[in-house]
Order: sequence, then structure tokens, then C-alpha cells
Amino acid sequence: MADNKLYEILGVPRSASESEIKRSYHKLAKEFHPDKNPAAGDKFKEISYAYEVLSDTKKRQIYDKYGLKGLQEGGQGGGFPPDDLFGHFFGDIFGMGGGSRGRGPARGEDTMHPLKVSLEDMYMGKTTKLQLSKNVICGPCKGIGGKPGSVVTCKDCHGQGVKVSYQQIAPHMTRQFQSRCPTCHGQGETINEKDKCPKCKGKKVLNETKILEVHIEKGMRENQKIFFRGEGDQQPDTQPGDVIIVLQQKPHDIFQRTGDDLVIKHEITLTEALCGFEFVIKHLDGRDLLVRHTPGEVIKPGDLKGIQGEGMPQFKNPFEKGNLYIKFDVVFPENNFATEEQLKQIETVLPPRPAFVMPTGEDVEEVNLMEYTASERGRGREEAYASDDEEHMHAGPGVQCAHQ
Ligand SMILES: [Zn+2]
Ligand SMILES: [Zn+2]
Repeated sequence: MADNKLYEILGVPRSASESEIKRSYHKLAKEFHPDKNPAAGDKFKEISYAYEVLSDTKKRQIYDKYGLKGLQEGGQGGGFPPDDLFGHFFGDIFGMGGGSRGRGPARGEDTMHPLKVSLEDMYMGKTTKLQLSKNVICGPCKGIGGKPGSVVTCKDCHGQGVKVSYQQIAPHMTRQFQSRCPTCHGQGETINEKDKCPKCKGKKVLNETKILEVHIEKGMRENQKIFFRGEGDQQPDTQPGDVIIVLQQKPHDIFQRTGDDLVIKHEITLTEALCGFEFVIKHLDGRDLLVRHTPGEVIKPGDLKGIQGEGMPQFKNPFEKGNLYIKFDVVFPENNFATEEQLKQIETVLPPRPAFVMPTGEDVEEVNLMEYTASERGRGREEAYASDDEEHMHAGPGVQCAHQ
């Protein structure tokens, strides 16, 4: 029951030499790299995995003898951590669910970068440059870390990068521990100091500064993600992960966004509320929107009015826009703004007062309204509860109803 699948994936015979395997891997990896060949799907992962096994003398021996199952079960005898490989193999080759990947993943981690964006940029769209540092495969040694052939499997951990130890916790019961191999720092291999690549000092990768062009499209939103496939850190025999830019909208002084709609707050005077007004909204693209309101169409405090099609553009459909809503607050005049005579005049045009019936009898008591402060209001509330007079409480000053 010779399992030949990994050789088939790399297109080499069972008798292939290390260098043949490597050559074939590099050729295939180039061809099926997701950047060049996104339609190839998991092919690249399969190639990476096949190479990971066949380029490792010990793993290749186990595979030749016992097949993939052997690699999986090899863990029991101090070979491979079984869960790791199980998840690795089935997760990556057969695509049977993710699970956590352990040591030696075929795909690198994704990296997230938050990017603060103004509402103006989300409205109009913008291309911005983002500088980030990332690891790339060392050029001079091509990611080997040293002279060809200088990389040897770590003797202490047999290339596993982990050491397994056992502890007896009860009679006939032992517990298994795994820890990172200190000799190779979990790499599974070592390079003699004198053979190390002078450029990367055996690390196989170099740190590079990379500039990404981020296209913020019209209508993009808070927390929207922009993917740069395969732009994550490079590592030998690993498919680099993605760089993911996460947009964060900077707060705006005037506009608030809810979905594709925008909301602003606007204060008008009582005069404007009754007699009409004009004002200008400076929009996110710099246009001045002139708002005119007819005299006599009364605006009440808290009123919400809308302007159709002046909200945010829809993502991927920027000619469709949400609405712009204006929430009005009405500022009343200060005390003594008019003489008694003038007030009588105003009253002549305002709606008549409600009818007032003066109560009669001995229980009538005239009281005064006082100015209120928050603490006094709290006290008043307790008294209201104590006297069980709910009417009184609700009628108290300062109970504002903020109707949306
Ligand atoms: Zn080691
Ligand atoms: Zn190097």
C-alpha cells in the first residue's frame, strides 16, 4: 500500500534526489502561487505540504514506509505531534475545516493594520500610501539561511522543533509535555555559525519596508477590510498570509454617519423657527448646500428634516446615495427680550392661550417657580416619591423628552 500522493503532487519519482525535489518544488510553487494563479485553489498548499515532507529526510523516511497515515501516527513514538499533522494534512490538503495550525504551517499568518480615514475620503474616495515593514525571503541564500547543504536537521529534536517529555502523574499514568527545542529555537534545523548566510545571519528572511497603495473607494465604511493577498511576512516553504487593512473612520465635526445616511445637528433661533430661514451646509466634497425654509412652516425643537440623495455614496454603486438628515434645535430668546407692550403685540399673532379657569375655595395657594439645578431636582424627586405624588414629579421642571 505504497502511498505515492506526495511524489505525484511534486511530479517526481520515488527515487528523486533532494535537489530534484527542490527544483520541482520551486518550479511548481512559482506556477501555482496564488498571486499568479488564484484559480488553482489549494494546489499551492498541497505543493507546499508535499515539499515540507519530502525535503525532510526523516519525514520522507516515515512517509515512504507508512504513507500519510504514518506521518500522522508517527507522533506517538516521539516523531510528530499527531494533532498538528492531522489538522495540517486534512485541513490543508482536503480542505476539511481549519482548526489551529501548529508548527510549520503551510500558510503564514494574516496581518491586520488599522487605517484611520476621514469621512471626506470615504465620501470622495482616495488612494493612500501605507508603509509597512515585512519579512521577505533572503535573496543571497534564497531562504536557505546558509551555504547549500549547511542546514542540518537538529539532533536534539530530530527536526521537530519540539521536545517531548513525560511525567508520571499517577501509577500507570503519564502525562506528555511538549516544549520548544532550545537547541534550534523551534526551527527543527541548525546551521554552523561559519556557514550562515552573512546577509540574514541564518534567519532566512530579511526585514524590508514596503509601501502599499490602499484604494479607499467611495462609500467604504468603518471596519471595512481591504485585502492584500499574499503580502504578509514571507517564510521559507510557506505561503505568505494576507495583509488586511481595516478602515477606521475618524470622527467628523459636523457629519455623523448611520449606514449610507448622514446626520447633522443645526441650531436655529425661535425667530427662524417661526418665520423661515436660510443656511448653508458645507458638504464633504466642498459643495455648499443652500437650505431654504419657507416662513410659516414651523420647525419645532428636535424636528428632523431630510435632503434626499445627499448622504453617503453606496459602496460599489456610488451614484446612488443615502440621505442627509438635519436635526433641529431651537434656541429661545433670553429673559426680558421684549417690553410688555411688545409681548402683547406678539401675542396677537400667536395662537390663543388655552382657557384658564381660576379655582375657588380655601385650598388655593399661589406658588413660585424657582430656578432648578440638577441636585435640587434629585432631591425634589425623592420628596415626590415620599409624598407618593407622581403627577407632581412628572410635572417637575427639567424633564426633557428628546424625541428623535
Ligand atoms: Zn531542535
Ligand atoms: Zn540569507
